[in-house]
This record gives sequence, C-alpha cells and structure tokens, in this order.
Amino acid sequence: MEHELRAEYAAGSSPADEDPAVKTWHVVRPEEGARAMCGRDLDPASAVRSVDLWGTGKVPICHSCGALFLRESP
Ligand SMILES: [Zn+2]
Repeated sequence: MEHELRAEYAAGSSPADEDPAVKTWHVVRPEEGARAMCGRDLDPASAVRSVDLWGTGKVPICHSCGALFLRESP
C-alpha cells in the first residue's frame, strides 16, 4: 500500500506562509486525501513528503501514525 507524509503546522503557521513551521508529520494514504492514519484532518494544502523519510529520524513523525504505518508495512 502506498503512503505519504503530510505536514501538521504549528499554531500560527499555515501552508501559505513563506516558511511555515511544521509541528509534526503524519502518515496518510493518498486515496484518503488529507486525513491522517491517526484520524487527524490535515490541511489539503499542507506539504507532502515521501514516506521514505519515516525512520530516518530527520523529521518529527506522529507516534500514532507511526504505529499504524508499521502494522501495514511488510
Ligand atoms: Zn498522525
């Protein structure tokens, strides 16, 4: 199954900002739009990253999404 990461922004930041502050990244299934696996609805305009970033420790990832994603990964 395909997954990608979507940004949740810190309070006061929005995807329209020039340099928005990302609070954490959630895992989404592309066919579910901007709804994270943990159930949080994200801004449809939020940034998308490759799920390959998960596990690198380079970006903060939602723990709930991480656990659910692990369960779906081979
Ligand atoms: Zn999440």
